[in-house]
Amino acid sequence: MRYCPNCTQPLIEREEGGRDRLACPDPGCGFIHFGNFSIGCAGVVIRDNKALLVQRGWEPFRGSWQIPGGYVEHDEPILEAVEREVLEEAGVVAKARDAIAFRHSIGGSIGGPSTNIYVVFRLDYIEGDPKWDDDEIIGAGFYSEDEMSQIEGVQGLSRWAIDKALRAPSTFGLEVERGATSMPQRPGWSLFGLQPPDLDLR
Ligand SMILES: [Zn+2]
Repeated sequence: MRYCPNCTQPLIEREEGGRDRLACPDPGCGFIHFGNFSIGCAGVVIRDNKALLVQRGWEPFRGSWQIPGGYVEHDEPILEAVEREVLEEAGVVAKARDAIAFRHSIGGSIGGPSTNIYVVFRLDYIEGDPKWDDDEIIGAGFYSEDEMSQIEGVQGLSRWAIDKALRAPSTFGLEVERGATSMPQRPGWSLFGLQPPDLDLR
């Protein structure tokens, strides 16, 4: 990045927060380039103890199988993003329940051009049989762990996440706070937290 994305002036190097960063020289603009970041999401959808997999039609890893997922748009709630990706890639309607894992990968290494957070959710199956567009996705289906072990090219991260989703109790993950709580709520926030069982029920 050489020019300010706000006002197009050439960026200068300046110490900011303890290290040199590219920054806009215009004090009225104030842009500082902190780096390139992206957010990904993926969903484990279980139906009859089988997990939904899709087969990639595009490079990289064309032909490999993975849980459905993709990038979260900058103005999109993350739960909507994962439900959208499951529907777009596999034609399956599912409702996100809890976050069960995330991966932080630093840009410039295996994580690709941007530093990325990839959040894996567990979703409740609602309806729809797997279907695909034969372009971005060239196959989809629900598979048991036994069946998956017979399929070539199932991504390790997907297998790992499916294993977690199948074994963790249904109330185990981070769930979004809904309704009236003592928590601060702001437009655009999706706040996730552990949901301890109600002590009165114990
Ligand atoms: Zn600027």
